[in-house]
Amino acid sequence: MASIFSRIATGEIPCYKVAENDQYLAFLDINPIAKGHTLVIPKHEVDYIFDLDDKELAGLHLFAKKIAQAQKKAFPCQRIGMAVLGMEVPHAHIHLIPMQKESDMLFSNPKLSLTPEEFTETANKIREQL
Ligand code: AMP
Repeated sequence: MASIFSRIATGEIPCYKVAENDQYLAFLDINPIAKGHTLVIPKHEVDYIFDLDDKELAGLHLFAKKIAQAQKKAFPCQRIGMAVLGMEVPHAHIHLIPMQKESDMLFSNPKLSLTPEEFTETANKIREQL
């Protein structure tokens, strides 16, 4: 059974898309801990990020860099924090999170509750900066 992120990558399941190319996809986390919280994934399904081959792992990070630069312009912040957990979805992904302070990266923080319109507007704001 394909992972939920593979099904997002094929378009079977919708997402708030930020960017994609042949190999990688960026979309908003559905339970964001900060406005602009984005996930980047390889379209190729591999569970554990460090099982990606070197080229794909490097490519994922270069793709994430472009997204982070756009996020920082769209949502002015100190830094874009980067985290890899993978405790919930067994498909490699990097969390990119606009942060003002260290505690903004805590996954135990309350999740933002955004309307579909707010998610769409958030994705558009990042996309405009790409
Ligand atoms: P983890 O695997 O621990 O890195 O957590 C998975 C992340 O994926 C969580 O932050 C979820 O909110 C997020 N997530 C799960 N399902 C979806 C989905 N359908 N669309 C967007 N984000 C999702």
